[in-house]
Amino acid sequence: MSYFNGEASHWLAASPADDIAPAPLPREKQDLVIVGGGLTGLWSAYYARQAHPDWAITIIEARHIGYGASGRNGGWLSTLLPGNRTKFAEAVDRARKSDPTGPVGSAGLDGVASVSAFQAALFDSIDEVLDVCTVEGIDAHQVRGGHIDIAQSEVGLSRLRELQAGNEQFGYGPEDMHFLDAEATRAHINVDKALGSLYFPGTAAIDPALLTRGLGHVLRKQGVTICEATSARHIRKNSVATDRGPVYANTIFVCLEGYSDTVGGDLPGLQGRQVIPVFSSMIATEPLPAEAWASIGWEGRECLGDTAHTFVYAQRTADDRIALGGRGAPYAYRSGLPGDGEVPAEVVDLLAGRLSSLFPDLEFDVAHAWRGALGVTRDWCAGVFFDPTQRIGVARGYAGHGVTATHLAAKTLLDRAAGDATPLTALPWNDHFSGQWEPEPIRWLGIRSMYKIFGFADAWESATGAKKTSLLARFGSRLAGLHE
Ligand SMILES: Cc1cc2nc3c(=O)[nH]c(=O)nc-3n(C[C@H](O)[C@H](O)[C@H](O)COP(=O)(O)OP(=O)(O)OC[C@H]3O[C@@H](n4cnc5c(N)ncnc54)[C@H](O)[C@@H]3O)c2cc1C
Repeated sequence: MSYFNGEASHWLAASPADDIAPAPLPREKQDLVIVGGGLTGLWSAYYARQAHPDWAITIIEARHIGYGASGRNGGWLSTLLPGNRTKFAEAVDRARKSDPTGPVGSAGLDGVASVSAFQAALFDSIDEVLDVCTVEGIDAHQVRGGHIDIAQSEVGLSRLRELQAGNEQFGYGPEDMHFLDAEATRAHINVDKALGSLYFPGTAAIDPALLTRGLGHVLRKQGVTICEATSARHIRKNSVATDRGPVYANTIFVCLEGYSDTVGGDLPGLQGRQVIPVFSSMIATEPLPAEAWASIGWEGRECLGDTAHTFVYAQRTADDRIALGGRGAPYAYRSGLPGDGEVPAEVVDLLAGRLSSLFPDLEFDVAHAWRGALGVTRDWCAGVFFDPTQRIGVARGYAGHGVTATHLAAKTLLDRAAGDATPLTALPWNDHFSGQWEPEPIRWLGIRSMYKIFGFADAWESATGAKKTSLLARFGSRLAGLHE
């Protein structure tokens, strides 16, 4: 099998970049400097420009816009909340007692209501991202076909029922989610052995490179300075030291996600080892012929997920490929970074095998494989932070659910920086402390064990025809801090 491997992603390789030399570093002090040219940084610049047409705004990006997870992801602009809802709710209830005047504690909502407000804000973010694409003329191949989690086993069906109940508790109404039986599921996508599914109409599929590059293009037109090929090294109050010299600013946002460890400084939400890079890998097939689509269906371009512990996520692309991702080889010792995203051959085989198990009759060739870094915290919850003394803000830790959440995080960072108490600054991820990761080699062993446990649990459940999630998987979730 011969395919492109790495090159950041299929999306980036397929989409033309603005052919522009890196902007000179600004000499005059900026109103806002943003470190990191992914979606968190781009949305921050976009809404800062909307609110302040006169501000001097600069983005510092080590490689090019979208080089990180934002240009490599599965393209699910999804309703999924970036973290563990029970943990967020518990933290809110604790904050109401210990810090009743703080941003989250003073909002007057208990934990469950606060997480439901968070969910509602994410629903709004999907609408707003799509609206911005329309208003600014960004064609990111966006289509709002929803997402569909399909169960191919009894135990998968039981997990969907649990998910449905959890979603109802935390803010999903009947219009946000429907259970589909086997026939209705196959009418959407003809997945082998599909027994049923949960369908979420709110989700949209996008092409990540077209969205990030489109936003970059809009920002340049709006006078935002984008300094690509510029690495930040150290950040402190009012200044960012880069490999091309210093940049000065009133306010600084650090939007580095899986790359957060590449800069020094006393940064809120990043002291110690609060975020590590965990890899997610993807393959994209060659475009599939019309006969293949006639048998698969998938006409709504829904985002497709499954119910395995080692879950996969997929979309049908605008040019009729299947792009499918999962988590083989998830972690490099000492929090190594993914570079240009080359994927070990065994991970490509694993993902191709999983695609075959969804569509056993499908003949396909892998055209491209790549991987990227998620930013993951110890309790898998994202957080938004702002230190008013240094005027430094940080948003990070979305794990695999950042495409929508980056939009909300950017708006939240701007409200925090303005010093306004708003509904966004009261959401439970504000100042959410997730704990510290263990030192090596415990961290490496822990993450590898977690993925191995989930792999064994999937195999055991499938071999035994289990009807309930195995104790092994529940143990793995607790170990990982993923349990809801
Ligand atoms: C393979 C994959 C699939 C995913 N699929 C989905 C999905 O379908 N849906 C979903 O919701 N989420 C998904 N995610 C997660 C989502 O893509 C991320 O949460 C989101 O893009 C994070 O955006 P960001 O701007 O915070 O970080 P990033 O996009 O990682 O941006 C950080 C930027 O900082 C730059 N940088 C690094 N170091 C420095 C430095 N020292 N100085 C300056 N710049 C620097 C990087 O080059 C990068 O461009 C996926 C992630 C991956 C990797």
